[in-house]
Amino acid sequence: MNIGLFGGTFDPVHRGHLALARTALEQYKLHRIHFVAANIPPHKQRQPLSPFVHRFAMLALATAAEKAFVPSLLEAPEEGVTPIRRDRPEKDRPEKPNFTIDTIRRLKQTFKASDQLFLLIGMDAFADIAKWHQAEALFRECEFVVASRPGYSLADVANALPESLRPRPEVTRPFHKQPATGDLVLKGATVHLMADLHQAASATAIRQAAAAGKPLGRFVDAPVADYIKKMGLYK
Ligand code: ATP
Repeated sequence: MNIGLFGGTFDPVHRGHLALARTALEQYKLHRIHFVAANIPPHKQRQPLSPFVHRFAMLALATAAEKAFVPSLLEAPEEGVTPIRRDRPEKDRPEKPNFTIDTIRRLKQTFKASDQLFLLIGMDAFADIAKWHQAEALFRECEFVVASRPGYSLADVANALPESLRPRPEVTRPFHKQPATGDLVLKGATVHLMADLHQAASATAIRQAAAAGKPLGRFVDAPVADYIKKMGLYK
């Protein structure tokens, strides 16, 4: 089976995320997509983040109608999903960032030999991929599906790769004029590029709209909008 993994902070999940997942599901014949909310995202540790339970609840609501979309607890805080061990002093409790490479390896423990993993990601996040923990190993473990954005060229995608996987400049030079679509198949990395999804939604814009008491129907479906309102999130 072709299995997708879509990680993010999902604070909150919105139509841009769902459009990316739906397009990837169809285009790459995925059978299932795990939506993984990070408890402690390594790249966004400085900004305030809603508690994991709220972000997970919104993921569960947003994915409820789609059989192939699975809200995942792979990066849930340990206390939230296992019985609480009261014998452990607070300072010894794990509060480590969730590294995608660890999540991938945990998910793959459940795989059959014929299963193939696809990591779903937006172009803005992919631009920083070389800085991710064990970046080269990520490319060995899975194929990437990147949602492109206007203005990005195939050269931008190739140059974002970790240095050891990056093609030489003379190879990528002609890529500057090519839009970031199609497949980039290199030794050690396979990157599938989906054309721009034309989804302007961003979690930042939603948090700002909620704080200003504006309607959220443009960005999220009713169950998620109602949840944000009921729980008083982003005030
Ligand atoms: P924030 O505004 O808080 O930075 P976000 O809307 O970018 O959040 P994340 O949870 O950080 O949401 O994103 C998870 C993944 O979804 C990332 O790979 C990101 O690139 C991608 N993504 C986010 N918004 C869109 C969108 N509108 N279209 C396509 N991909 C998106």
